[in-house]
Amino acid sequence: MEARKRILTGIRPTGPLHLGHYAGALENWVRLQTTHDCHFLIADYQVSDYADDIARVREAVWEVALDWLAVGLDPERSAFVIESLVPEHAELAVWLSWFLPLGMLQRNPTLKAEMEDFGRRSVPVAFFTYPVMQVANILLPRAHLVPVGEDQLPHIELTREVARRFNRQFKEVFPEPEALVGRVPRLVGIDGQAKMSKSLDNAIYLKDTPAVVNEKVRSMYTDPTRLRATDPGHVEGNPVFMYHDAFNPDREEVAELKERYRRGAVGDVEVKRRLAIALNAFLDPIRDRRARFAANMGLVRDALADGTARARTVARATMEQVRDALDLGYLEKFRPNGG
Ligand code: ATP
Ligand code: MG
Repeated sequence: MEARKRILTGIRPTGPLHLGHYAGALENWVRLQTTHDCHFLIADYQVSDYADDIARVREAVWEVALDWLAVGLDPERSAFVIESLVPEHAELAVWLSWFLPLGMLQRNPTLKAEMEDFGRRSVPVAFFTYPVMQVANILLPRAHLVPVGEDQLPHIELTREVARRFNRQFKEVFPEPEALVGRVPRLVGIDGQAKMSKSLDNAIYLKDTPAVVNEKVRSMYTDPTRLRATDPGHVEGNPVFMYHDAFNPDREEVAELKERYRRGAVGDVEVKRRLAIALNAFLDPIRDRRARFAANMGLVRDALADGTARARTVARATMEQVRDALDLGYLEKFRPNGG
């Protein structure tokens, strides 16, 4: 039997997970865990922008693991991995940084955009080089497939480049990984910003209560050109309808609301009310499962411990191949008197 192809993908422990994670990434992860050998990583080496708030990182590790369990990721099938507890990630990142041209980092559009979010605060070197860590994350388990949101594509491109260079120059150690973008490549925020993000405070979280969801939806950014419910409205580019498209399974209701909205025959209040109902119906089973696991945190801990141990075994095997390919057997190749 042919071995199952491997997946590596991850999330930064910066807070609980939101609808953007679900539609851009998690939904694919849940589906693919039946066909692939999955490693899901909590990337705690990559949160240098939270250096002043390590307590939040520590807490977010549990939030992320709970959200994973809540959406149906299964730690028996898939490895839940804490990045820094597999220090081979750091080791490999150092070697691989030799093969990553500086210009490629400087041109990386995702990195550029994120660095702008720092504003006047100074950017730590680790933030500038976190894509190198990401390259190491993907190559360490020798992954074939990386299911991610669209913002991560530039990082996967870097990874492919590094794998090609390493394989060409030394030995064929790394598969060249493919990216797989989810159903909604980049979900907008409730404020209309291009990306729903933990860091931008514009997210609906999977663990939000129905009352919080109702309130967030009520406050959502909508068509700014429309002043009265009787004005013809814009559906395209309107976050409320983007969410209806992404999360409301009742396609007829969505089509009807769009048609009335365009004619000026339905108000924002009604469209939002129906959206909140659809989102809460979607989130209810996720909230239930989350509550069950939250009442049994020992299971969550075991999931992280097991997955991390499994990843470490794979990591050690890869590092042996890497050291062999680089021909670093200093001590092994030692011959007394140069013989
Ligand atoms: P932060 O703001 O702390 O960077 P984030 O919300 O961007 O958090 P990440 O941990 O960086 O989350 O991303 C985890 C995964 O979820 C990545 O594959 C990313 O592409 C995907 N993702 C995050 N936000 C969205 C979104 N709004 N739409 C689609 N995919 C998303
Ligand atoms: Mg991010």
